[in-house]
Amino acid sequence: MEEGKRIVRERNENVFVDEMRIETKFDPKRWKVYTSKHWMILHWLINPAMAFNELVLGQRVPKVSLLDLESKTSRFESTVIPCPHCHSMHDGRTWSTQQGTAFWNWYGLFCPNCNNVIPCVRNLLAALLLGLSYPFWIWSKERRRERWMNRQPKRFQSLNFGALSNPYSGRGWIKIGLSYGLFMYLYMTFLSPLLFSEPITLSSALIGVPIWILAGLGFGFFMKKAMG
Ligand SMILES: [Zn+2]
Repeated sequence: MEEGKRIVRERNENVFVDEMRIETKFDPKRWKVYTSKHWMILHWLINPAMAFNELVLGQRVPKVSLLDLESKTSRFESTVIPCPHCHSMHDGRTWSTQQGTAFWNWYGLFCPNCNNVIPCVRNLLAALLLGLSYPFWIWSKERRRERWMNRQPKRFQSLNFGALSNPYSGRGWIKIGLSYGLFMYLYMTFLSPLLFSEPITLSSALIGVPIWILAGLGFGFFMKKAMG
């Protein structure tokens, strides 16, 4: 037991050291490194609605992802997620809606090569909610994590990257943008006031419709450009 704990601690320390030097670890001519300094990951950290994706849907964003600068395909197909444990360079589409692996990743992104968990960033509101509810989940954390770990290898057995296309290409960005807008509208207009005991008003419900349609389309278009 003690031996197991020591190995886990050493592994965690190695991961930490890796993250400290992450930008110098990859050849800058070949790879662009994305960490929490990038706007897309910053958005994930500070947007309170993303707490829902993390805590309920189990959608997670890795602490480090890479863009292959030599790739001629879209950003969607050129994103690589390195595993700090076994140093595998995973195709970013390993965890995607098309593979059925984008969600239920509550404990992080499972590495199908070494059966470890690739560390992920934590949304600020999700961190706050987890901190406040600590006494309710801490006692069963290890048991639930183990059950989750046991289920993972099967999910990644038959990955197929051949037919996966960029979800933002064509008119995909409109669909994703409007879904994002609807989600943000429901969150900001109804869920957030409930959580923070503020009144839900008819005017905010009406004004929210055009605002979030536009914001959703803006987000979708921006992602199309970013992923293209
Ligand atoms: Zn690994």
